Amino acid sequence: MDAASPELQVRLALFGYPPTAARLIAHRRSKTACRGTALLILIGSWIVAPLTFFIPPHLEWPIAILLGGAYLARRAWTRDLVVVEFSGTCVKCRANIGIRAGATLAIPHTLTCARCGHTLVLEYGEAPETTGSVEVGNGPIPAPGAPPEPDDTRPPGRLHPPRNSSWSPAGSGWVD
Ligand SMILES: [Zn+2]
Repeated sequence: MDAASPELQVRLALFGYPPTAARLIAHRRSKTACRGTALLILIGSWIVAPLTFFIPPHLEWPIAILLGGAYLARRAWTRDLVVVEFSGTCVKCRANIGIRAGATLAIPHTLTCARCGHTLVLEYGEAPETTGSVEVGNGPIPAPGAPPEPDDTRPPGRLHPPRNSSWSPAGSGWVD
């Protein structure tokens, strides 16, 4: 890409785990561009919202458009980075994390791992070199594609009928 798209020093972090290095090449938008986009979204929503009042159920549409416009305008105002290229690995399960090119974000930015579902934070900073033997947390990291371990450690509970606890002399070694 052009010279205005530098590689940023970023990492993926999750509380309680050593962060992993991530590669982010992003184009930085100027404050003016961010605010201009935000203003256009706001004005657009103000123009469209009254028109939708004629669509039943009338009041809900304008409210939704005004709220949606405010949300999108705020996003455009704060998100000053446009992703050119991103690659990273999940701090917990080492799955590849991706952000599509063209997405906008502001750092710190939260991401959800598609495999383990943990919420990671993309932040500025260096990550320690991982040697491949780093294992932190609850047990070993499962191999990709491995079936989940069966959770069958619970006591049988009521699956078994209660033991007959009545005592009889015939059932023991009792002799008179
Ligand atoms: Zn993960």
